[in-house]
Amino acid sequence: MGATGTGKSRLSIDLATHFAAEVINSDKIQVYQGLDIATNKITDEERRGVPHHLLGVIPPESDFTSSNFKYTASISVKSILSRRKLPIIVGGSNSYIETLIDANFRAKYDCCFLWVDVAMPVLHSFVSDRVDKMVERGMVDEVRDFYSATSDYSRGIRRAIGVPELDRFFRVGSVSDELTRGRILAEALDQIKSNTSKLASKQVDKINRLRNTKRWRVRRLEATDVLRRRGGDAEAAWEDMVAGPGVDAVRRFLYEVEPVVYGGVMAVRGGAAPVMATASY
Ligand code: ATP
Repeated sequence: MGATGTGKSRLSIDLATHFAAEVINSDKIQVYQGLDIATNKITDEERRGVPHHLLGVIPPESDFTSSNFKYTASISVKSILSRRKLPIIVGGSNSYIETLIDANFRAKYDCCFLWVDVAMPVLHSFVSDRVDKMVERGMVDEVRDFYSATSDYSRGIRRAIGVPELDRFFRVGSVSDELTRGRILAEALDQIKSNTSKLASKQVDKINRLRNTKRWRVRRLEATDVLRRRGGDAEAAWEDMVAGPGVDAVRRFLYEVEPVVYGGVMAVRGGAAPVMATASY
């Protein structure tokens, strides 16, 4: 779990290289085919051969609801476990995760929650720079393919940040002069940055709600220094603060039966078919 830009995908690949695992995407926009740049989908190269489920497979016009996700992701979890591998669910859509991981799911499977967290001011500036990089990589032309004068921005992939914001820029098209077009584009990019920051804040609020009201035991991995630093220092911070503790947490989850305290009463975890814990990794 974690806000956009924190490094969830990177952590999932690090984990999948330590434990035989497959990834199930839980980002409600990345499930669709298309907009690979605007939605910051993990690339084939970055996936390093780790199989991914529900990533870029749904037709962009259709609505893939939380219950569609619950149904399909449950099937993926079962099939991954049947191959004696660890399912890693990765994405920023906490409503998807919340719908999937209900009492029924928890009765069947033990879950280990990891949260990659970055201090908000640092994350805001990182995602803002990331928008500029997306533009350099061709985001505007990519989004143009999803523009039509009658676009419905309430369905499917067109809800992605970047699509509604660029509507006005495509709409004025060649009828306005270059200066006006430049100004409208700059305004759209500012909106994209601000909406991405808002999304990040909302995502963190939702994770805190799951921890506080649903009492999910979420292991927080502090990744702020990774974004603050550059080059080798950033790599070292990633290993020390995120990848290392993440791998340790999963190792403990898989191999150790930890005592858990429920409101002062000690219980031993693993009573309810601890599928992941008993599988041989
Ligand atoms: P809610 O129930 O409010 O939809 P959620 O946690 O399921 O909560 P989010 O995943 O936070 O929803 O997404 C909310 C909105 O943010 C999406 O409808 C979309 O506009 C935008 N968004 C989310 N993920 C991405 C992404 N990867 N790329 C672009 N835009 C995104």
